[in-house]
Parts: sequence; C-alpha cells; structure tokens
Amino acid sequence: MLFFCFLYDQKRMVRNSKPVAGICSRCGGCASVADMETATRFCYVPIYRKSWRAIICTFCGALLKSYRHVC
Ligand SMILES: [Zn+2]
Repeated sequence: MLFFCFLYDQKRMVRNSKPVAGICSRCGGCASVADMETATRFCYVPIYRKSWRAIICTFCGALLKSYRHVC
C-alpha cells in the first residue's frame, strides 16, 4: 500500500503555549504547556482533527507529557 502512504499524512501543530514549571528530561530546557492540534489529511483534504493538551519542551520540542481527556 505504498500509494496510500503518499496521499495520507498527519500534521502536528502547536496552537499556543505558555511556560510552565518543569524542565525537559532530554535537554534540560524549559517546559511549556501547549494546546496541540493533530490534523489528519487524505489527498490534502483534512478528514480528521483532534485537539489535545501536552507539556512540551520549548527548546527541543520533546513531548514530556500529554493529556488525553482534553476535547
Ligand atoms: Zn528538550
């Protein structure tokens, strides 16, 4: 199903974020709580969109913690 893979993609976006107490376990950078949005597209048409909240590193972008119950 190689053909399918070319048409299907998933994009992760940070809608907004604010600093939160904590440090990244990977690089020691500042952590921030972010409103994330995952858009799944098929043939460049968005078919599925999910909003969620996570704690990410502002420096390296590592996902430190995610909350599944948001929206
Ligand atoms: Zn980091």
